[in-house]
Amino acid sequence: MNYDLLIRNATVVDGTRAPRYEADIAVNNGRIAAIGRLEGAQADVELDASGRIVAPGFIDAHTHDDRLMLSAPDMAPKVSQGVTTVVAGNCGCSLAPAPKGMRAPVTPPLDLLDDAGGWFRFATFRDYVEELAAHPPATNCALLVGHTMLRVQTMEHLGRPAAKSEVARMRELAEEALEAGALGVSTGLYYEPANAAPTEEVVEVCRPLAKRNGLYVTHMRDEGDNVLASLEETFRIGRELGVPVVISHHKVAGSANHGRSEETLPLIEARMKSQPIALDCYPYCASSTILSAGRAAVATKTLVTWSRPHPEVAGMDLEEIRRDFKLGIDQLLPAGAIYFSMSEADVQRILAFEHTMIGSDGLPHDAAPHPRLWGTFARVLGHYARGLGLFPLETAVYKMTGLTARNFGLADRGVLKPGMAADITIFDAGEIDERSSFAAPIQPAKGIEIVIVNGAIVWRDGKPTGARPGQVLKRS
Ligand SMILES: [Zn+2]
Repeated sequence: MNYDLLIRNATVVDGTRAPRYEADIAVNNGRIAAIGRLEGAQADVELDASGRIVAPGFIDAHTHDDRLMLSAPDMAPKVSQGVTTVVAGNCGCSLAPAPKGMRAPVTPPLDLLDDAGGWFRFATFRDYVEELAAHPPATNCALLVGHTMLRVQTMEHLGRPAAKSEVARMRELAEEALEAGALGVSTGLYYEPANAAPTEEVVEVCRPLAKRNGLYVTHMRDEGDNVLASLEETFRIGRELGVPVVISHHKVAGSANHGRSEETLPLIEARMKSQPIALDCYPYCASSTILSAGRAAVATKTLVTWSRPHPEVAGMDLEEIRRDFKLGIDQLLPAGAIYFSMSEADVQRILAFEHTMIGSDGLPHDAAPHPRLWGTFARVLGHYARGLGLFPLETAVYKMTGLTARNFGLADRGVLKPGMAADITIFDAGEIDERSSFAAPIQPAKGIEIVIVNGAIVWRDGKPTGARPGQVLKRS
């Protein structure tokens, strides 16, 4: 038998949490053709994986890679840590649809995708999907359409609930996006442009999710003092629509709330008995988003990740900037920041929760990004699984593959078995860890050897190969 690709002597961690086993893996036409002892087999490309883990390619459950896929299609921050699929369009922010275009300055937090606005050029969601299909990146993607983007495209003034006619227009745009391939709608109720939207507005805009089996994905209104009320709001939206919900980057922020994952996780688990709920988490006790005085006030330390008027302060501590440059927050805006606001005990408890997926929430266009952009997956496998023993390697892989594929309805991804798409990551379990840090965040991970997307090698010898086999994935 002759295959396109053959991986010999693999230690297979298959994405289901099953114990690892030894096998060869054969790939044909972008799919896994066989797994087992394939001694007589031959292939155009043969890889020896002796002593290495062979796992399904990782799925980044939470990204802001909407534009990165077009502007840097090698997707190095992601494939360098073994990621083969990214879920984009999170926190209410998507690049499309932009039927009215985008005025500069771009409304924060949409400016996380592109501060100048030139990339918000897709009048319809379909135009964006077609651009990705015509110029594919190295990774696959699953797309969400953002409620904040719909508001910005529909409403003149964002600080109030949408009028009936505006809700109807947003619903129409949501429906078009779902028809064009979006898997669901995301909200960022935490942020100013969406904060005035009452629960009822969200439900009415998201109505088309029901008949299309779409997902409701949310950066909740409050991840601090009122986190329980925000969880209940999320569950209510899911129930009223009859659709699954995904709680984005679950956390309890602010020192007054440290320890409260002991309240949130049991509540999530209880509600999961009566409705479908998923959640993701990044493995750090600092968050990152746009800079604001309110957020800095509740953080123990704030690092600036970018500043439009003062690019020279990127990477510096806000206190240092105040002292040495005599610059306050207002003078730095628009800007981004990293906020140290969570407790390590909560982060570990949420990561270890049986139902938690791994998502990076990386911000790829920041000058001095949070290290989660390049480090998330390697840190979970290295620091948390191998180093601290928070969970076995098989569980860590499941949280970034099989569990994620199931929650997002990616039927042929996330598990290594014949017939599945050949998204594969080969790594050294003893070596893998992040190299990125808060001081030097732009660093590829250690221990990732070969990354394969739809049967094509996209990362090898510590660099992208130039192959761009990514597909826009549908939910089934
Ligand atoms: Zn978010």
